[in-house]
Amino acid sequence: MKPTVQEMTCIVCPNGCRLQVVEKDGKIEVTGATCKKGVAFAENELRNPTRSIASTVKTIFPDCPYVSVKTDGELPKGQIMQAMEQINAVTLKERLPIGGIVLEDVFGVNIVVTSDMTATPAPCRIGGREQAAVSSPDQA
Ligand code: SF4
Repeated sequence: MKPTVQEMTCIVCPNGCRLQVVEKDGKIEVTGATCKKGVAFAENELRNPTRSIASTVKTIFPDCPYVSVKTDGELPKGQIMQAMEQINAVTLKERLPIGGIVLEDVFGVNIVVTSDMTATPAPCRIGGREQAAVSSPDQA
């Protein structure tokens, strides 16, 4: 049987090389990659595809109702929906600095804050857009 050629776009850098990937006799052949990173990307995509996630979580703070978060590494692509369910269930009850851990060991990675909630004003997200914290009446 003739091996199937898979087309994919390398997402390692902005060049976005178009890759043609063939698995034959247990070996993976990659063409179209401008560098070795593209070959490694294609091999991972076939054997164990992984991704990073960026999202937001709710908080209890009226001046900072949402804060941006990301994974501190890559998790298996097939676990992304379950990881997002865990992220969406969080309501953060403490102000964290950049890199502060919101959730530990979600399919092998931590979910960390990407904005410094301890800064004044806190760079928080309201309605999906980043903006300076809104003053509360007792701060006026
Ligand atoms: S193959 Fe290399 S140059 Fe091309 S997109 Fe991937 S990392 Fe960038």
